[in-house]
Amino acid sequence: MKIKRRLRLFLLFSILLTVAHAQQKKYVLVIHGGAGTIERGRMTAELEQAYRTKLREALLVGYEVIKQHGSALDAVEKTIHVLEDSPLFNAGKGAVFTHEGKNELDAAIMDGARLRAGAVAGVTTIQNPISAARAVMEKSEHVLLAREGAEDFARQVGLRMVDPSYFYTKERWDGLQKALQHEAAQEKSGKTAARLGGGIQDDKFGTVGCVALDNQGNLAAGTSTGGMTNKKFGRIGDSPIIGAGTYANNASVAVSCTGWGEFYIRNVVAYDVAALMDYKNLKVQDAAETALAKVAKAGGNGGLIALDKEGNVAMPFNTSGMYRGAISATGEFEVEIYKDEGVGDLN
Ligand code: ASP
Repeated sequence: MKIKRRLRLFLLFSILLTVAHAQQKKYVLVIHGGAGTIERGRMTAELEQAYRTKLREALLVGYEVIKQHGSALDAVEKTIHVLEDSPLFNAGKGAVFTHEGKNELDAAIMDGARLRAGAVAGVTTIQNPISAARAVMEKSEHVLLAREGAEDFARQVGLRMVDPSYFYTKERWDGLQKALQHEAAQEKSGKTAARLGGGIQDDKFGTVGCVALDNQGNLAAGTSTGGMTNKKFGRIGDSPIIGAGTYANNASVAVSCTGWGEFYIRNVVAYDVAALMDYKNLKVQDAAETALAKVAKAGGNGGLIALDKEGNVAMPFNTSGMYRGAISATGEFEVEIYKDEGVGDLN
């Protein structure tokens, strides 16, 4: 009898300890590799493994910066380099194609400590657009530079430039052909294209993003993307729009979004998360879910990652999956893809 009671007490104590531990866990870096129709049934085991490995590599690169007392900005930039250089994601190498068969890239970065920000849009020859965004923030008096002007600037500050063919991948090219066929079929049947300059509505998006919290308590956010397949007319999405796809403020939260950009721009999603926390005192999870619910209500889809100044994380999405991961101050990390994962600490 006595033994049973002790056992029960012991169990209760362990449960309380686990709960306390989960609540205390402080995250320092969070990433996404895009939200969209990402389902087990559509994925090979090899491809899934490749995604998980690359996400883990990116997390560890950023974590190393934070561990060495580097800045949140450096962590965000270096982490995004890993994802931009991988053909798996719709950013840098592996970016989607425009209607005209080009790769036009957008990126933004924001420094939560001083509310500085930089972004580039529609660039075709900068190997790592996130570094160009950072250079705009640190070496120019502007926030957003576009197209040839942004490229001239990147060249002048010494960034690595590439031939536009560098960004080509067969998978994305095939994706464009599929989108063009879909659009032609719709037009033939008399239906207007679901969205001008868009691709197939429920295809995966694949943008990459990172938010980080450094040892000095500074937050930073960054997002990099090729935009949406079959985009037209020089379309620019939410990623390089400060407050829409990217935002960071030490007073509240760092946010990076992924999804159907037009809805994120109209709903000023990244800033909305910060404003809900600031004005309404919402916790990061509630603020992130509330902001995303507005996107869904308006007919859009996607997800976001958010990291608050205490190291709490939210990663909501309303698609079937979102490539995502987070690493704690003690180096414990989680990488998730599908909706049914993340019943633990992350969600
Ligand atoms: N939000 C990006 C855009 O609309 C796309 C994405 O997240 O994949 O350009």
